[in-house]
Amino acid sequence: MNFQSCSEQSSENSTGTRALIFKNLFLSKFFLDRDILICNNYILVILTMIETIKNTLKEKGIKPTYQRLKILDYMSQNIRNHPTVEMIYAELAKDIPTISMTTVYNTLSTFIEKGLVCGVTITGTEVRYDFNTESHHHFLCKKCGQIKDIDIPCSLAAKKGELVDGHRLEEIHGYFKGTCRDCLERFKI
Ligand code: ZN
Ligand code: MN
Repeated sequence: MNFQSCSEQSSENSTGTRALIFKNLFLSKFFLDRDILICNNYILVILTMIETIKNTLKEKGIKPTYQRLKILDYMSQNIRNHPTVEMIYAELAKDIPTISMTTVYNTLSTFIEKGLVCGVTITGTEVRYDFNTESHHHFLCKKCGQIKDIDIPCSLAAKKGELVDGHRLEEIHGYFKGTCRDCLERFKI
């Protein structure tokens, strides 16, 4: 855990705030170990974020265990990466040695079931997880493997919930593949 001081605060105040943080740490069973700024406003933001995640889980009827909180927190911070189970596990295991790949996988499956994250299967060989559950399309770069959100209007989006050929449309996924902007620039294609 890293402590940093706000430049505008005196050392006396910092000590007082530090004591407050420690008190909060012990009070909050679900306090996540991110960087802590010795500044009341920032602490408020950090706690509010954690409370939000905790409440989100509770609203969905999921018991907010420390590991589930950390997984959802990671997803909320990696909204553009579309990580795999392995990527999430590798990152979280640095802080939580007791976490298992199975726990991460099962937790993500529960999150999908409850609509907290969605699965993106654009590569055809693995599930990539997406915190953004709003209907949007994806682009896979065949050169670097990055999966990016692609911002194009979807004419089918309005058909969600409608019957198509007698089937009710619940999800619409658009998968596009090619060479990403970065690779076009890098390789001057
Ligand atoms: Zn690329
Ligand atoms: Mn996405």
